Amino acid sequence: MTDVRAYAAELDAALPDILGAIARVVNIDSGSYHAAGVNATIDVFAAMLLDLGFAVERAPLPDRGDRMTARMTLGNGPRLLVLGHADTVWPAGTVAEWPFARDRDRITGPGVGDMKSAVVTAIFTLGMLLRRGLPGLGSIVFLVVPDEELGSPLSRAWIEEEARNADLCLTLEPARPDGGIVVGRGAVGAAYLRATGVTAHAGVARADGASAIAALAPLVAPIEALTDMEKGDQATVGIFRGGAARQVVPGEAEMHVDLRAPDDASAAAMFAAIERIVAGPPPDPRVTVALSGGFARPAFPTHPGTRALYALAKEFCTTLGAPAPSVVARGGSDGSFAAALGVPTLDGLGPVCHHSCSRREWVEVHSIAERGAVLAGLIAAAASGRIGLEA
Ligand SMILES: [Zn+2]
Repeated sequence: MTDVRAYAAELDAALPDILGAIARVVNIDSGSYHAAGVNATIDVFAAMLLDLGFAVERAPLPDRGDRMTARMTLGNGPRLLVLGHADTVWPAGTVAEWPFARDRDRITGPGVGDMKSAVVTAIFTLGMLLRRGLPGLGSIVFLVVPDEELGSPLSRAWIEEEARNADLCLTLEPARPDGGIVVGRGAVGAAYLRATGVTAHAGVARADGASAIAALAPLVAPIEALTDMEKGDQATVGIFRGGAARQVVPGEAEMHVDLRAPDDASAAAMFAAIERIVAGPPPDPRVTVALSGGFARPAFPTHPGTRALYALAKEFCTTLGAPAPSVVARGGSDGSFAAALGVPTLDGLGPVCHHSCSRREWVEVHSIAERGAVLAGLIAAAASGRIGLEA
């Protein structure tokens, strides 16, 4: 029997301990590029999961934190994949000037919402469920990703391998400020254009030079014109730079383009359009333009199994008096990898977070027990066979 009110009450009683653990990990700098800090954060999560009886493996990555896999085999039944990450967008040194703090219903600090409070809450939630018993569940695999905020380039294959062996995936990105839970995501990509020309003195030898900037600049407008906000296609030049000195014809220029698309077909069409734009003749034949990149995050389609998970999450939120609109997000997450493989996936299951990834980021303290109870309800429902998990 799934009683989310009982789960919420139990987690609420454990709130001082949960907040203590959140404070501990928020006060560790763990920007994606700070491998030692990411690993120190993973040390805390790993110890908590070991305490619950999980088998924990860690695989080191060059210049990044470890990939952490916590595994527990329970019996026959659905195989659950839980996706969390230990990295944040904040560089080393951030904690010293912006440590964890609580002010009534608000907690703040680097990565508090995205997603340290979510991983801690999920671990306490699993502990509560395991004490009660989860006889109908096959297994739990809990991944803590070290490079999520970079788009998980070194974790994608590992996540996909685990997703192929899962019947459902619950992803711990924060709930939206309005309580929203994520049922779908668009594809996210990048295009990198690098132009190489010929340097020459801009005064006495201008004709000897071939400008890389002059070749690249005319491509900005046609690439940005691929944007169709209504459809969900977005191409945004986020970085444009080139040249070395005012009086030198620039030999190098580059631009980085952020790409968003509503589905994988639109993503492929958008990248093909950029390839055609880049293939056009440069104003000076001595300049070459190279294109790289692609859509690193596939689209997260809303499967029937995802709808079934959402319907249940919504029911639990309603029981707890919390709003939970469904959201199709523009940004990607690790849940996208599982959903793209056809695994019923629900995301946005962390506590409610405001101004995610900004210095104003804060989490609603009362939502910790509430969202933990929703997560518990979903896992218990999967264990009791209450969810139709067909992809
Ligand atoms: Zn995140």
